[in-house]
Amino acid sequence: MRYISDKTLPAPIFRGHHLICLHFYNGEGYNADYIEHLSNILIMAEKGAIEICEGADCICTKCPNLCENNCAYYENAETDIRRMDAAALELLKLTPGMSISWMEVRQKVERIFQDWNRMYCKDCNWISACEKSAGFRNLISE
Ligand code: SF4
Ligand code: SF4
Repeated sequence: MRYISDKTLPAPIFRGHHLICLHFYNGEGYNADYIEHLSNILIMAEKGAIEICEGADCICTKCPNLCENNCAYYENAETDIRRMDAAALELLKLTPGMSISWMEVRQKVERIFQDWNRMYCKDCNWISACEKSAGFRNLISE
């Protein structure tokens, strides 16, 4: 995989559900560009603070499902995804506009993961990818 320098990366700004789901990323994604971008963003995130936004974030910008700044993963996906974002932020006790370290987010995710798993993971199209993550398997077995 080719990594690009920090200077060329956008600031790591994440929407709510990405604050949870990305901790279980294992290199799978929609296409090669998206995977490379996501991998680079996560390297940046691990180094320090990230910011929280509403709606499309720095991961969505390289996603083939983003259409006019809305998630078009399926019909009316943006509405569902925003609801998911709001649920994630409520569980994590975070709000758009906040800045926080990725490590701190991870600690919060560990505390709330049982609830998130119950609410979203069972019906998620990406569960087989997340199940490859040891962190995911550990948290659901707690
Ligand atoms: S556009 Fe939708 S499917 Fe793509 S990364 Fe954003 S939320 Fe996920
Ligand atoms: S299974 Fe889906 S909802 Fe659950 S953490 Fe993975 S991507 Fe997120």
